[in-house]
Amino acid sequence: MNLILMGLPGAGKGTQAEKINEKYNIPHISTGDMFRLAIKEGTDLGNKAKSFMDQGELVPDEVTIGIVKERLSKDDCKNGFLLDGFPRTIAQAESLQSLLNDMGQSIDHVIHVSVPEEILVERLTGRRICPACGKAYHLIYNPPKEEGICDKDGSKLIQRDDDTAETVKNRLAVNIEQSKPLLDFYDEKGYLVTVNGDQEIDKVFEDIQLTIEK
Ligand SMILES: [Zn+2]
Repeated sequence: MNLILMGLPGAGKGTQAEKINEKYNIPHISTGDMFRLAIKEGTDLGNKAKSFMDQGELVPDEVTIGIVKERLSKDDCKNGFLLDGFPRTIAQAESLQSLLNDMGQSIDHVIHVSVPEEILVERLTGRRICPACGKAYHLIYNPPKEEGICDKDGSKLIQRDDDTAETVKNRLAVNIEQSKPLLDFYDEKGYLVTVNGDQEIDKVFEDIQLTIEK
């Protein structure tokens, strides 16, 4: 089963990816992991990617798609794969189409975990971190026993700059703008399935299973 997972930050993609990986025995391939592996293995493409990253530059699409090809050719992808964070652009999506075509494969489903923006803001801005031990809390979903204080060591919890309302809203806006054309692209091809991510984790996964086993 060849799957692509899409969703905004805070939509719970990582959690669902883990569950899909366990249930269907297909590797969860995130862009970051894929680059790290290619660099660690020292492949030609990995070295190329590293030289761009070291200079703080974006890795060009032809290098990225080459790394995707290397990754999808590995043994653990014989049952399929779950791509997460790739493709990011229409150009990459088109390259992926022709790459899979060359491999005699195709995409089965593009799963979009959809959560209303205001819920995402609530999820992302509610995060609090203990600066001493690194333990993560959430004001609503996982609050400390005493407000603003770490359960383990009594330190005062902080909100990371990344999690303030303004930063979160900006990040979401950028992501929405980037993902819209891709969602349309896959919708037109008939691959897109949208799952309501504003439910209990297990219910979201149930919906995903229903869709992909249909
Ligand atoms: Zn702590």
